[in-house]
Amino acid sequence: FKNINDTEGHERGDQLLISLTERLTSTFVTKGLFISRLGGDEFLLISELASSAERALVEAQRIIDVMREPYIMNDVAMRHTVSMGVVIYPQDGENADAIMRHADLALLSSKNQGGNQVSFFTSQLTQHIHERLMLETALSRSIDLGAFELFLQPKMHAQSLEVTGCEALIRWFKDDGTMISPAVFIPIAESTRLIIGLGKWVIEEACRILQGWVAQGRVVPMAINVSVVQLLEEDFVEFVLACLRKHQVPADMLELEITESTLIDNFDKVVAVLTEVRQNGLRIAMDDFGTGYSSLSNLNRLPIDVIKADKSFVQGVPNEAAITQLIGSIGEVLGVELVAEGVETREQLEWLRQNGFDTLQGFYFSKPIPAHRFEKLFLF
Ligand code: C2E
Ligand code: CA
Ligand code: CA
Ligand code: CA
Repeated sequence: FKNINDTEGHERGDQLLISLTERLTSTFVTKGLFISRLGGDEFLLISELASSAERALVEAQRIIDVMREPYIMNDVAMRHTVSMGVVIYPQDGENADAIMRHADLALLSSKNQGGNQVSFFTSQLTQHIHERLMLETALSRSIDLGAFELFLQPKMHAQSLEVTGCEALIRWFKDDGTMISPAVFIPIAESTRLIIGLGKWVIEEACRILQGWVAQGRVVPMAINVSVVQLLEEDFVEFVLACLRKHQVPADMLELEITESTLIDNFDKVVAVLTEVRQNGLRIAMDDFGTGYSSLSNLNRLPIDVIKADKSFVQGVPNEAAITQLIGSIGEVLGVELVAEGVETREQLEWLRQNGFDTLQGFYFSKPIPAHRFEKLFLF
């Protein structure tokens, strides 16, 4: 279970664990399930009924569903992230030692995928976890070594096609010169909290680049990607503001892109942080819009200036344009700037500018490129 330690104080955590244990035992103990608390927020469940992998999956999913049900404690709505790892005896290990070790690996794999998952032990898992561990180690070493670089991709005004902004996308170059995609290492950085340090580097580097532009009288705002893990840090707002001050960059030149799908579990806290950020003059963009199932009532409460239609929808245009059109209507109702990412063709560009999109971004204009090239091509 995750989130338990977030509740104030140990006593509260203990109280929660007791109520979770009760929920687990009262629902399942009579149904052929042996339950024991391993310590902390980890439980061991043994079932004789789950005689096949299919049965085990059904049972595991049912347990997750029950344990995920929200509840109210001291007027606060709570909901836990539940991760499960499954081993089958005797095929996955013949003694208790092997079984427990493999169960741990399967559990780790569920957590690595963001939780609320069931993972089965497989022999590839050992390999996979090993590779991940190597990457994690390399990542933690690289932060101080200058192995990261911000690439910039222009954002164009849909009508004039002038550059009106850009997005910073991080790149990681390993010792041997190979580049590792942020799609691979950002999730690892998030689950290991390395994202805190890395995210601070991104903020600092963005401000450093912007400082140069401001000094030369070029007012082109930059958007950076921020993970919810960063937002939830106590000193986040303070850090961003201090960075802007230090580099003498006006707050409205920095925009924060937050991925819609990551908000849901911490909605109220995130809204509070974003509100404060915005009161200080920074702009907020909802990234990957349309993939996160925000309820319409939630949308109304989000303090945002921009929504970015996800490229998976944009790329369907003009043949499959229904979702993109809907996103366009939502943007109009909310009165925010509408950005389309992943624009690759002239046809998409034409459709988007005729359907209310203000700003376009994608390979059609430029891939993300090193900052000095961006400056040469688009700014000076
Ligand atoms: P994202 O924020 O949705 O960024 C858009 C991704 O689409 C980028 O991938 C970009 O290179 C790519 N892209 C841009 N135009 C096109 C196009 O026309 N066609 C196609 N097929 N792709 C296009 P990238 O750079 O690999 O980044 C992947 C993801 O990693 C980003 O998705 C973002 O979620 C995350 N990320 C990148 N940099 C950072 C960062 O500094 N901090 C954090 N927290 N996340 C980052
Ligand atoms: Ca983005
Ligand atoms: Ca994203
Ligand atoms: Ca996206």
